Amino acid sequence: MKKSYEIAIIAHDAKKADMVQFLNHNKEILISEKIKLIATGTTGSKVENIGIKVKKMLSGPLGGDAQIAARVAEGKTKMVIFFKDPNSSHPHEPDISMLIRICDVHNVPLATNGATAQLLLNALTID
Ligand code: PGA
Repeated sequence: MKKSYEIAIIAHDAKKADMVQFLNHNKEILISEKIKLIATGTTGSKVENIGIKVKKMLSGPLGGDAQIAARVAEGKTKMVIFFKDPNSSHPHEPDISMLIRICDVHNVPLATNGATAQLLLNALTID
C-alpha cells in the first residue's frame, strides 16, 4: 500500500450507527499510519469519539460532500466509504450525486453500503 492512503468516510444520519460499528470492527487498520481519514463534519465527530484521527470537512448539507468530491478530483482521496441512506431524501442530493459521479470519472473506489466497504478495506490489507 502507498504511504498515506486517504480514505473519505461519510454517513447519513440513519446510517451513522452502522458506520460506527464498521469503524470499531476495522479500527486496527484505520489507525494505521498508512491511512489518512477524512470525513464530513458530523460523521467526523463520531469517528473522533471512537478514538480514530480524522480530518473533518464541513457537514454534508453545508458542502462537505462537495469538498470530498473536490479532493477525489484532485487525486488526494483514493477511496470513498459512504454509508448512504437509501430510504430518505436529502436536501444536498445534488452534491451526493456529484460525488458519486466524480468517483466514477476518476475511477476511485466508492462503497455505498457496509458490505462493499468491508470488501474494499479487506483489499487494502492484502499487501
Ligand atoms: P454529516 O454529513 O457527516 O455532516 O452528517 C453527511 C451527509 O449527510 O452527507
